[in-house]
Amino acid sequence: MQQRNYQKELEAILSGLAGGARPRLLLHSCCGPCSSYVLEYLAPYFSIDVLFYNPNIQPEAEYEKRLFWQAYTIRALSLSGQVRLLPAPYRGGDFAASARGLEQEPERGARCAACFRLRLAEAARQAEAGGYACFATTLTVSPHKDAAAINAAGEALARPGGVRWLPSDFKKRGGYQRSIQLCREHGIYRQSWCGCAYANPGAAAASSL
Ligand code: SF4
Repeated sequence: MQQRNYQKELEAILSGLAGGARPRLLLHSCCGPCSSYVLEYLAPYFSIDVLFYNPNIQPEAEYEKRLFWQAYTIRALSLSGQVRLLPAPYRGGDFAASARGLEQEPERGARCAACFRLRLAEAARQAEAGGYACFATTLTVSPHKDAAAINAAGEALARPGGVRWLPSDFKKRGGYQRSIQLCREHGIYRQSWCGCAYANPGAAAASSL
């Protein structure tokens, strides 16, 4: 079966928006670094609010640290006046419940699929409640993440006639490299592991503000 090209699908949507009214987009962000490129890319097309809901990040101190750098990233890109940050309180129990029984799964396996569903379900819920036109996630910037699994999770949460899923594969078009460049230019902290302690117990244990 032919693989879908989510970047091309996104480009088709963006070309229909160019120069017109900017629809409201709720962008789930996993961290400041991944959001840097996505915000730069999408801000001309959408009125964006950033949802920081990542109960997968362990420990809580690391969550606070990444939240700090998320806010910093928005300011560093001079988007404070137009991009609102919606930080969720830390709810590590949400992730613990979704990962139960999947602790030994390798990265890109069933635990990660559940982790995507958990975070995107909250994004879809808030997008629906807030009257946004669509929702998306920065997660597809990472070359370590399965874009097909992320897009499948997002599409399954979209409502017919309601909030729409914005497909993406942000690592295409040099998105990942651009995010590294933006972090270097603005001195943005880039963590060395995904988020949960299962993926990198040593790094999570050593994390501090
Ligand atoms: S490795 Fe990352 S995506 Fe997978 S479960 Fe852990 S935090 Fe979630």
